[in-house]
Amino acid sequence: MPLFRDEEYLKVDFDEKQEKDEALWVKCKSCSKLIFKKKLQENNHICPNCGAYFFLTAKERIKSLIDRETFVDETKRIESDDPLNFNDAKPYKERLEEAQKETEMFDSIIVGRGEVEEHLLVIAVMDFRFIGGSMGSVVGEQIASGIELAAEEGLPFVLISSSGGARMQEGLLSLMQMVKTTSAREILTHKQLPFVSVMTYPTTAGVEASIASLGDVTLAEKGALIGFAGRKVIEETIGEELPANFQSSKFAYEQGIVDAVVDRDNLKPELAKVLEFF
Ligand SMILES: [Zn+2]
Repeated sequence: MPLFRDEEYLKVDFDEKQEKDEALWVKCKSCSKLIFKKKLQENNHICPNCGAYFFLTAKERIKSLIDRETFVDETKRIESDDPLNFNDAKPYKERLEEAQKETEMFDSIIVGRGEVEEHLLVIAVMDFRFIGGSMGSVVGEQIASGIELAAEEGLPFVLISSSGGARMQEGLLSLMQMVKTTSAREILTHKQLPFVSVMTYPTTAGVEASIASLGDVTLAEKGALIGFAGRKVIEETIGEELPANFQSSKFAYEQGIVDAVVDRDNLKPELAKVLEFF
């Protein structure tokens, strides 16, 4: 499907200034302190007062991980159709348009190639602002095509998840993306290319239950929320109270779901170390 946006829209500008009309201060959800936005950015979007992690947009994540001047956008110019003509609080088409406008993305993922401390790779980065980073048919296709690109070029594939799961507005088509991405992942196995999955806040439901859990190495960013169903749903189902650290990155590490929990500041060198190893 041809698209309407400028081909240049995804250029990652490492020197980009903050939008002029945005608020200068943000309130930390964890400690309620007001933080000067510039200070927060300089601190890698971690609260300087209490250490709480603010989630990164896909572009911010790329800037924090990929070497300057090396990122090449490979996101396919496709956007979701509305096969179910879905309408909840508002029509899905409207939701899509709003998210596209807010994020300047076609959907909740950016795929590209670049370097991490001079290691070439293909990377796919999800953006939670776009309908909760949910995986519909476009996201599934972008992940699969990113994997195919990595396979063609003989490069490692890295997925940075930040997703609430499958996109309910596409129903069964969204659930099929779990199968699609899982099958695509096998191409890397056949080509003996590494797949590194990085779970960030949040990696849940259909994404956690498929592609995000299939890394050769799985890293979790500190502060990540990792799990399938939400705490409330589970507690109501099993009639038990869950431990306080349930679904935290540390909990996922203790249960063997992830291989390491990494601070945001150390994520780039840690990723480079893993790629170096392979
Ligand atoms: Zn704070």
